[in-house]
Amino acid sequence: MDSEIKQLTKAITKSLKLPTTVMNIPEKLLKESHEMWSGSLIVTLLKREQINGNQAMKAIRSTWRPRGRMDILKRGNNLYVCRFDRNQDQERIEDEQPWKVLGKLLLMQPFSADMNPFDVRFNTIPIWVSLGGVALEHHTPLIVEFIAGAAGECILVLPKETLPRNVEGYKARVVVKVFEPLIQGTATTTGHQGIVWVNFTYHQVSGVYCHVCFHLGHDTSLCPLPPAEQLDNILILEYPNLED
Ligand SMILES: [Zn+2]
Repeated sequence: MDSEIKQLTKAITKSLKLPTTVMNIPEKLLKESHEMWSGSLIVTLLKREQINGNQAMKAIRSTWRPRGRMDILKRGNNLYVCRFDRNQDQERIEDEQPWKVLGKLLLMQPFSADMNPFDVRFNTIPIWVSLGGVALEHHTPLIVEFIAGAAGECILVLPKETLPRNVEGYKARVVVKVFEPLIQGTATTTGHQGIVWVNFTYHQVSGVYCHVCFHLGHDTSLCPLPPAEQLDNILILEYPNLED
């Protein structure tokens, strides 16, 4: 019995020993590889069902159509790290959000080799929003930026200095919260017309945005919530003048 225990102990000790040889990768190579992946992007698809990784990678590439070389690596279930040889490709891809890949909203965040892919939170996305119902005296980029701030952090207003030359008017780039309903508008003050309602229209989200629950990620026809009873068209009509 004793010898059996001894033998067993010996076997366990042996198997617990740390490996004596560690592959020593030259630091220069590690550094080069680290630098290669710094400033890259990590992306995921906002979806419910499983999507084949190869299919997703192929679809991401064909949606973006980078002009230079792009490397894409799967780093977990529905997590892909992308690096670009041309900065212009990456800038365009970030600027032209939101992207739809395989009918799903693509979410992206900055990434580098010292980050853990599983720590990345895809909580925000920049979207263009246009404002309906703005008063004449709201027509300055600064006031538009102020109003658009109700939708999310406003990072850009176009046109920057002049008045808009088309019927769409100003548009604002806002960083919205992905998992919260998009803000539909806001009541704002004016100098001479009391309080008016400004409604927000989000661009490039058809098919991945729901007009029932106002969430990103699914089409209106696929909303898990029952359709709400039609309310007065308060979002389209001017907000009642509360000062009357
Ligand atoms: Zn919905």
